[in-house]
Amino acid sequence: MQPLKYLAGFPPHLQDKVRALIDQGRLGTVLAERYGQAHAIRNDGQLYEYVQQLKDRHLRKAVPLGKVVYDGKLQVMKHALGTHTAISRVHGGRLRASREIRIASVFRDAPADFLRMIVVHELAHLKEAEHDKAFYQLCTHMEPDYHQLEFDLRLYLTQLELVRLQDGGGGGTGG
Ligand SMILES: [Zn+2]
Repeated sequence: MQPLKYLAGFPPHLQDKVRALIDQGRLGTVLAERYGQAHAIRNDGQLYEYVQQLKDRHLRKAVPLGKVVYDGKLQVMKHALGTHTAISRVHGGRLRASREIRIASVFRDAPADFLRMIVVHELAHLKEAEHDKAFYQLCTHMEPDYHQLEFDLRLYLTQLELVRLQDGGGGGTGG
């Protein structure tokens, strides 16, 4: 049986369900039906605006955003679904906290729901450094479906990898 690296640590019965979908060749279809909506956040400027809007809505008082960029070198799982770098810079003698948010570029072409989920994840890190209870409470405050979306994102990444392996490294099939 092939290991499902994006689902490592999840209960065996869940992994079995996903394997069954893969064996039936249905994982891509199931995801496309559930997450059919694309987004139009194509570049770093648009991404910054998008992140700032979500921050204004939910975390107005958190530290100001620093740089917000798509990063083609980021590996989603390796960086625990994104990355969050605390940078302290000196401005006119005062130390000012600013936060840089890097979003793996796989999200540029991902469904809108997954981009929102990963941005919520990164925004939550403005207040909570660890992946602990307080962190996930903040995530679900901003996005009530957070846990479902994070799980389905793992399915999406699994599917992307299957397509990539089938194509021998070529482009995607569009789902
Ligand atoms: Zn994180």
